[in-house]
Amino acid sequence: MLTEFTNSNLEVLYSAEEINARVAELGAQITRDYAGKDLVMVGVLKGSVIFLADLIRAIDLPLTIDFMAVSSYKDGTVSTGDVEILKDLTNPIRGKDVIICEDIIDTGLTLFRLTEILSSRGANSLKIATLLDKPEPRIKKELQFDYCGFQIPNKFVVGYGLDAAGRYRNLPFIGVVVNPDIA
Ligand code: 5GP
Repeated sequence: MLTEFTNSNLEVLYSAEEINARVAELGAQITRDYAGKDLVMVGVLKGSVIFLADLIRAIDLPLTIDFMAVSSYKDGTVSTGDVEILKDLTNPIRGKDVIICEDIIDTGLTLFRLTEILSSRGANSLKIATLLDKPEPRIKKELQFDYCGFQIPNKFVVGYGLDAAGRYRNLPFIGVVVNPDIA
């Protein structure tokens, strides 16, 4: 029952049911948009794995998956703007229709750099699906994203793949950490 997680330091922002319903909608939208295309879903490790796992099962099309790991937050919370590739894609994306799957867009820097990197590899198309978008602190980079689960306030959230110091990824819901000092 994960009762240890439902402590007073977490407020539920989106329940498992609300997330499932929204992911189903995004899957249906992608199914309509990508019929007949050579779809590759690229998960950005680690935060996107739960979202990716659910989203691909809501897409009623043939597809493949691949993963990248990048590091952009060198100091835990402060974005440096630099993206270091820790793990690259296993397969080439030339001629493919790629959707990058991300957990959350905060400043937008990580995805901005990632799309720059992947754009140079000859994909037929490159789009972004993000579970969450924090509009408030966006350094207004010219980042276009096509599929978005929820827009959230400028608060630190965990669960459904998102962590605080490596924990909380297995929460079935998305919660706000009330006091990050004791997360
Ligand atoms: P950006 O480059 O858009 O500023 O940063 C995006 C990354 O920052 C996300 O992939 C995630 O790892 C981290 N991040 C930003 N906001 C949050 C948040 O509220 N909760 C968690 N757990 N990670 C966040």
